[in-house]
Formats: sequence, structure tokens, C-alpha cells
Amino acid sequence: MTTTKFTDLPLIAPLQFSLKEAGYETPTPIQLAAIPVILEGHDLLGIAQTGTGKTAAFSLPILQNLAKHTRKIEPKSPRALILTPTRELAIQIHENIEAYSKHLKMHHTVIFGGVGQNPQVKALQSGVDILVATPGRLLDLHNQKFLKLDRVEIFVLDEADRMLDMGFMQDIKKILPLLPQKRHNLFFSATMPHEIQTLANRILVNPKKVEVTPVSSTAEKVEQRVMFVEKPQKLDLLQQFAK
Ligand code: AMP
Repeated sequence: MTTTKFTDLPLIAPLQFSLKEAGYETPTPIQLAAIPVILEGHDLLGIAQTGTGKTAAFSLPILQNLAKHTRKIEPKSPRALILTPTRELAIQIHENIEAYSKHLKMHHTVIFGGVGQNPQVKALQSGVDILVATPGRLLDLHNQKFLKLDRVEIFVLDEADRMLDMGFMQDIKKILPLLPQKRHNLFFSATMPHEIQTLANRILVNPKKVEVTPVSSTAEKVEQRVMFVEKPQKLDLLQQFAK
């Protein structure tokens, strides 16, 4: 069986250059499944964890779709919005987009709470195509009229189940009505509890579903066994195994 390479995927040359520079050759399963679906403009329900390569799975086709249909950049009005729960994830996603879009004329920025807002306001004012954001700061800047979301073409909700765990559900419910009704939606979650499925149903229109099995935390060849022992014997047992 031959392995599919990035060069076999219908990605434009500026993205192929960046991938080569980043040392990516082989797409991960989620990339292989999601990239063509997103390029075709379908809504997507991606069930995948961090570490599966899901950031590139959505960032690459977003960049390509935006580059194919250009729109004049406008202050405060991003074309793509990527919502993610933590500042660390937001920074990581933004760094990836920076790397993948090196050979495209694409403006992007990242906003999150816990730091001064002035540089973020300035970046938004100068105009961005892609905005990566955490929910609280996004609403805050929107409330202060530093940001408009009524011309967002592509909306990504990343790590939806973590958003729920971190108490962001109310914020997300406030953000949704600020977006245009007609838009391209990508929804990612590692798990699909009832509340997340309900949210996905509300956001997505005829989505294609892509599911990847979680990254295994142990090697296949490691034998695992459960042994029941009383607490005082635990150390002895461990020593026997170690020997
Ligand atoms: P993610 O799951 O999106 O957080 O990605 C996990 C890590 O894998 C990141 O450091 C990516 O830069 C890297 N990565 C993603 N896709 C590939 C790929 N196809 N080949 C090599 N590295 C990759």
C-alpha cells in the first residue's frame, strides 16, 4: 500500500512550500480525512484530540479557501474566527498559522485575556483575515466595539468539550448570534457528551463527520495486567516486578 503524501493532496503551492519547510511529509489521519472535506466547503464535525494534527487539518484548508476567494481587508472585521479555550492553545494555533501562511498574503492575529488589550486592539484595527481567540477576551473586545463578527466566513470551534469544562458555554452562546447565519463551520471535540452534541447540532449544517482514534498512551507491545493487592503489599510487589 502506498502512503499518501501532502504533495498528493490538492493544496496550493504556497502551502506546499510551507509544509516542506516545516518538515511535514505525510498527513496524519485527521488531515487526510478533513482537508478535502473542508476544501469542498462542507461543515465538519471532527472528533479528535490535541496531538492528532488537527490544527493543520483545519488551518491549511482555511488558508487555501481564503486565498482562493480574496476580499479586501477591513479593520476590525476578520474573515475566519478560530475559538479555542486556553491562551496556550490560542498561541499554538496562531504559531502554526503563521508558519503555514508564510508564502501567502494573509493577515492574522491572536487575542486572549490576562494581558493588556492595546496591542490586540491595534492588530484588529489594522485588519486581519484570520483571528484566533479565547472566548472571554473576544466578547470583551466586541463589547468595546474594537471587533466586528458580522462578516466572518469561516468559524472554528476548537476543543468544544474543554470549553464546556472550563465554563465557556455561556460565552459561546453569546458569540453565536454575533456571527452571520450563512458561514462555513468546523467543530472539534475530543469527546461528544450530550451537551456538546446539542451545541454541534445548533452550529453545524449537514456536517461531514471525521473521527480519529485517540493517540495510544502505551506501546502496543507493552503487556498490561491488573493485580489486586492490599496497600502494605504494594511496595513488595512492585519490587518483585522491578527485579
Ligand atoms: P496538533 O494536534 O494540531 O496540536 O499537532 C501536534 C503537533 O504535530 C504539532 O507540533 C504539529 O506541528 C505537528 N504536526 C501536525 N501535523 C503534522 C504532520 N503531518 N507531519 C509532521 N508533524 C505534524
